[in-house]
Amino acid sequence: MENGTMMLLPPRDDLCQVCAGNHEPNWPHNAQSMYYQVSFQMQHGRAPNWNDAMEHCSDEMRQLWTEELVALGVDVEAGQVNPPKSGVSS
Ligand SMILES: [Zn+2]
Repeated sequence: MENGTMMLLPPRDDLCQVCAGNHEPNWPHNAQSMYYQVSFQMQHGRAPNWNDAMEHCSDEMRQLWTEELVALGVDVEAGQVNPPKSGVSS
């Protein structure tokens, strides 16, 4: 076993340097991005959620995204990143 140190390659130059996503600077980071999850965890010692991903956004942008995420079944207030996998039995 190695010592568990994680190699995290920086995102490509044309991608967001925070989440490695391809989005406008005024859009939220991709909270579901593996890069964002890992790098945020390393910096802050906890997993990021959409509130972290939207911290740099305007109130309008934040409201828009929160509504979209809630419509998808994501409990943004509770810190959920993905909609719960419910309703899938077998
Ligand atoms: Zn980003």
